[in-house]
Amino acid sequence: RAKEEGKGTYVLYDKSMHTAFNERMNIEKHLRGALGNQEFELHYQPQVDIRSGMISGFEALIRWNNPVLGFVSPLSFIKVAEDSRLIIDIGEWVLREACLFMKQVNERMLYPYKISVNISIIQMLQEDFTEMVLDSLAVSGLVPSLLELEITESVFMKSFGSIVSKLEFLKSQGIRIALDDFGTGYSSLGYLQQLPISTLKMDKTFIDSLSEKDYSQAFVQTIIQLGHNMGLEVVAEGVEDSGQLAFLKESGCDKVQGYLVSKPLPESGVNVLLAQRKQYGFPDM
Ligand code: C2E
Ligand code: MG
Ligand code: MG
Ligand code: MG
Repeated sequence: RAKEEGKGTYVLYDKSMHTAFNERMNIEKHLRGALGNQEFELHYQPQVDIRSGMISGFEALIRWNNPVLGFVSPLSFIKVAEDSRLIIDIGEWVLREACLFMKQVNERMLYPYKISVNISIIQMLQEDFTEMVLDSLAVSGLVPSLLELEITESVFMKSFGSIVSKLEFLKSQGIRIALDDFGTGYSSLGYLQQLPISTLKMDKTFIDSLSEKDYSQAFVQTIIQLGHNMGLEVVAEGVEDSGQLAFLKESGCDKVQGYLVSKPLPESGVNVLLAQRKQYGFPDM
């Protein structure tokens, strides 16, 4: 009986491995032509300054609609794009597109909005990474202080020194650096101190747990204090309800991003949203 079960389990395991592998191969196959076929689009999710209630900027998030596969989530294809190095060209397209769009938006607005762009470690390892970033700004005409690069704690795993130098250089040019998904990765606090960042993005898992676990409120408040003590701006990701927001406001968090404010929007949606000039009436504490 045990033997039978073991055998059955083995076959199942083997099958699922094959399926996962085939799926990745299939994604990679279709990913190769995606940029040339203009299958990508950017959506933009607003970030709101908690104190003023005003939108301060947007995070650019890639969307992929393939004729065969349909819509594929970045959670499924970014890793494949990294492993195949396709992320180098895709990521460059994202950055250029996002800078151009934000420059275009700001031309019509009274106050300038910031744009945050996710950057893969594979891109940062490229020799010409800093030139590519500066060139994207130059071509778009967007000022450096309106661009924020979102990096993750994966930067701690490879060539830490050379990546820190590149980020320091970009920061010296006025570009902001955000540490995304903060709290989920491998960074020790010692490493955190060495990264030239301007913003901590507290991961959604901390926000999700606010209503459940005993220490979650303490964790969130401690992250906010740590960020502020380091002179950083603190952004909460994935804020979905007003209870979470009330707690974040009370705890002094600077900005929120999440479905409570808006899902990521296509360009047309951004234009409609900004035309409303909405001031978010967040609950007063
Ligand atoms: P991320 O950078 O942490 O982006 C936040 C993700 O959370 C986005 O998922 C966003 O749509 C989602 N989100 C925002 N607010 C809420 C909320 O209130 N509730 C829930 N349930 N989700 C929320 P998305 O767009 O699927 O992107 C997933 C991840 O894929 C991103 O996580 C980022 O790591 C990566 N990614 C997306 N676009 C790019 C890109 O252009 N380049 C690179 N390298 N990575 C990207
Ligand atoms: Mg991000
Ligand atoms: Mg994140
Ligand atoms: Mg995330």
